[in-house]
Amino acid sequence: MFDHQCTACEKRQLIFPSMVTAMTNTDHGIVLAFTCWCGADQTMVTGKKSVSTSKVALAA
Ligand SMILES: [Zn+2]
Repeated sequence: MFDHQCTACEKRQLIFPSMVTAMTNTDHGIVLAFTCWCGADQTMVTGKKSVSTSKVALAA
């Protein structure tokens, strides 16, 4: 769970794992795609690749 400022509704909202639609490993880190409470598609780059997220990335 993390908070994110939506580019559509411009509200800072809590994003739950169930709202995440995609998780992609890139050279810049992990790109999370998720749907805001307002229905807008959003993306966010998380920190570096880490061991703790590898299991989730494999499942994605
Ligand atoms: Zn929104």
